[in-house]
Amino acid sequence: MVGEGGGGGGGYVNWGVLNPASLDIVIHPSDVLRRKCEPVVLGAGGAVSAETQAIVARMVEVMRQEEGIGLAAPQIGVSQRIFVVDVPEDEGDEEAGDPPRLATSVPPEASTGLEVYINPVISQPGKKAEPFEEGCLSLPKIRGRVIRPTEVTISAIGLDGKAFTKRGAGLLARCWQHEFDHLEGVLIIDRMLQADRIKNRKKLRELEADGDEGAGRG
Ligand SMILES: [Zn+2]
Repeated sequence: MVGEGGGGGGGYVNWGVLNPASLDIVIHPSDVLRRKCEPVVLGAGGAVSAETQAIVARMVEVMRQEEGIGLAAPQIGVSQRIFVVDVPEDEGDEEAGDPPRLATSVPPEASTGLEVYINPVISQPGKKAEPFEEGCLSLPKIRGRVIRPTEVTISAIGLDGKAFTKRGAGLLARCWQHEFDHLEGVLIIDRMLQADRIKNRKKLRELEADGDEGAGRG
């Protein structure tokens, strides 16, 4: 198993022993990536515990270090319903017919910097769904097209303990759905188009062989 004995990879986090700062990216195959995550228990008045704050801080560090636009808690070995996103704005390319991606669009297609989602719920998928190529920090070198609704609504608790609801589109909505899947133990290899699954078969087999050897990564 990836990272077994190294803290976090096996997925059973014992706070008496482990410091969130020691948690690192978990690579497929790993049980924690396949388990349905537990809701975060909030304190009185929705207070977010110091432990959850520490987990989030580490998630942000790992996301930045790995240059991701999103990261879910199981990806650092924590089986709790938390994800972070940072979907940058993009000016687009007028000549190539690429529209800009903005946090100010209605609904937004980028995040307003770093955003934290605790116990998120996704609802009201738009009627339109599109394929788009996705990657995943837990599946290095694997990329494939996944069909998802282009617009969804998300409700969650922020790091300040306040509930919020927002609607998003484009890459932001896609990122939410990708990260939400992680909380359900679902990976892009389960969802990608058949042709892309076949294309990635060899890389996936190599990754799974690495895992079996207990080599871990990094
Ligand atoms: Zn992912």
